[in-house]
Amino acid sequence: MNRHTIPLGRILGIPIGLDYSWFLIFALLTWMLASSYYPVEFRNWPPLLYWLTGAVTAIMLFVSVLLHELGHSVIALRYKIPVRSITLFIFGGVARIGAEPPSATSEFFIAIAGPIVSLALAVLFSVVKPAFAAVEPLWGLAKYLAYINFALVLFNLIPGFPLDGGRVFRAIVWAVTKNLRRATLTAANVGRFFGFLFIFFGVWQVFTGNLGGGLWIAFIGWFLDSTASAQVQQVLFQGALSGHRASQAMSTECAAVPADITLQQLVDEHILTSGRRCFLVNRGESTLGLMTLHRIKEVPRPDWAYTTAAQVMLPLGELKRIGPDTELWTALQQMDRDGVNQLPVMTDSRVVGMLSREDVISFLRTVQELGA
Ligand SMILES: [Zn+2]
Repeated sequence: MNRHTIPLGRILGIPIGLDYSWFLIFALLTWMLASSYYPVEFRNWPPLLYWLTGAVTAIMLFVSVLLHELGHSVIALRYKIPVRSITLFIFGGVARIGAEPPSATSEFFIAIAGPIVSLALAVLFSVVKPAFAAVEPLWGLAKYLAYINFALVLFNLIPGFPLDGGRVFRAIVWAVTKNLRRATLTAANVGRFFGFLFIFFGVWQVFTGNLGGGLWIAFIGWFLDSTASAQVQQVLFQGALSGHRASQAMSTECAAVPADITLQQLVDEHILTSGRRCFLVNRGESTLGLMTLHRIKEVPRPDWAYTTAAQVMLPLGELKRIGPDTELWTALQQMDRDGVNQLPVMTDSRVVGMLSREDVISFLRTVQELGA
């Protein structure tokens, strides 16, 4: 989870977090409910009750969204796909599923699970509503939650990426064409179309006098469009990398330093003179480990004079590694998973090169320049 997120705890082992932007939508929604929605529905409440009911409703809406995301997560976990986190933010919630679904069927069921939970909540709140008839705020709360969960189902079933409907649509196109790439591009382009439609409709609303609502719709449209575009970019990027292997992009001029060199010497004589950020640590002919700027920075500066490279390096045995034949796209995904910027490329126990994100980008640039 990133630093803009407040951790709320874990459910099913999944860390749940609240993005700072959530507070904005919580405040806006509470204000909207307390100042216009509830006063129109119910005329004779004391002012404080409008605000209290508004705030409780806003919180219950986000509990509903959390349950929706847990719906996706439970099915993902059933397919043995890790769920890294669930974050509530200004546009609702997002479950970060740790890997692409392995099949069209799993994608379909993971995607549809969220709207099914929302539909179940809509039905549940409609069914319990009559029981609250004597208590106006509870009755109003149930009515609003039934309505909003149903609206969530309809909105999420729009067949464009990144919405759930877009994923369902992608799963169907994937199953029919057997081509994930084409399915992703189709769903993402439909997503962009709906994004534009929302922006257009939102701007039109602004000009016909609905300033707040119009801006909000346009803002959602912008979010849909930019997320869908990012997905298109990713597919194109993945396509450009496909067929290319680590051995083509790795740098082989990885400098080696002796295991007994002190950090001070390493910094003075190698890093500041060459600008390199990563070194192999060798004893004789064999490589013992890898030294990065990050590791050096973890040692207090006064200790640099008596700490050797061998003491702080990443030992070879603990290193995540790739082979020269690893596909570049696979290598990038591994870097994401491990949270590193470079990986040693190894055959057996020998380091033959280093592959960093920059290496991949500059390789891609060269490929595109050559039009190859
Ligand atoms: Zn969903």
